[in-house]
Amino acid sequence: MTIEYSQRVARIPVYPAAAAYNLPEDVAHLASNESPDPPLPEVVEAMDRVLRGLHRYPDPKGSALRSALSARYGVPAERIALGNGSCDVLLALGEALLEPGAELVYAWPSFSVYPHLEAASGARGIRVPLNERDEHDLDAMLAEITAATRLVIVNNPNNPTATALPLAEIATFIERVPAHVCILLDEAYIEFSTLDDPDASLDLLRAHPNLILLRTFSKIYGLAGLRVGFALCGSAEPVQAVDRIRQPFFCSSVAQAAAIEALRHQDAVAARVEQAVIARVELGEGLRELGIEPADSQANFLWFALPVADGADPATVEAEVVRGLAERGVLVRAGGALGRAGWLRVSFGKPTENARFLAALRDILGA
Ligand SMILES: *Cc1c(COP(=O)(O)O)cnc(C)c1O
Repeated sequence: MTIEYSQRVARIPVYPAAAAYNLPEDVAHLASNESPDPPLPEVVEAMDRVLRGLHRYPDPKGSALRSALSARYGVPAERIALGNGSCDVLLALGEALLEPGAELVYAWPSFSVYPHLEAASGARGIRVPLNERDEHDLDAMLAEITAATRLVIVNNPNNPTATALPLAEIATFIERVPAHVCILLDEAYIEFSTLDDPDASLDLLRAHPNLILLRTFSKIYGLAGLRVGFALCGSAEPVQAVDRIRQPFFCSSVAQAAAIEALRHQDAVAARVEQAVIARVELGEGLRELGIEPADSQANFLWFALPVADGADPATVEAEVVRGLAERGVLVRAGGALGRAGWLRVSFGKPTENARFLAALRDILGA
């Protein structure tokens, strides 16, 4: 007799993890859209203070963090969900909304965790191709919404393409989505976008109880290893639903304390945005010198097609370049696993790391 697992285990795709974890220290980690800067000393101190109280469970309601987020964003605390990373909220929301017979609509290529939602729930997932500028095609997404649709996801800026839509277009889309559909606006990278004020989407929550803004401490706040994210919701219902679905203690006391402290340092957030905007320009120029035109980035990474000779296989070219970069100590993400072979996603590192990436790519392409 062998153990039999539920069918959904076979259905759920394996997350395309970066092959980064057993490498020497001088590697440039440009594969996971992390911050190149370590946590602020004040954040480390806040975590340190909590360590001596770890014999106690965390506050299951995350009251202090939720009230800090409420003060920062002007959203009532009962409309804020916390999670062990924002993916935790995302997966719980999928579980709360989806089941066989239900439908989920999202763009593709987009975040590699979204396909997990349909696989785990048995719902039907509908992937709507990005437009020719690699942006969400919101009209095409609207056309896929039916009476069975429970959830539509818009990732703005979009991972892996780095492209963003102006908030005005998203607001028009939200107006047109029927009230029975939950709209998840995944804003993991919104702070990096210069298209609109990153907080402008908050206004939409007032008019749309079916809207959820998903945000994270993993990217601009540089706390990816800690696992803490949150959702700002147009009503209290989704918060109650995701809290009911999960285990009672999903956000550690260390994560809660660090997040509260991180929120106090908006000057550091602004400095990181500035760094990213500079990297965006410098890496973009460097790629153009190699004859590569990246997609228009509003995030902390670039997405671009590798030059592929006539008759060559994009997947082979991609694999060779990714291996060549790794041999030169630069880790990037291959596009094939993210939905498009022959493309690369490169996160912004420190200026020296970005320069190292460009030099390595120039070397490999023989330019
Ligand atoms: C990185 C990322 C997240 C954040 O995930 P965490 O679980 O908060 O680390 C969410 N959505 C997208 C699109 C991302 O790229």
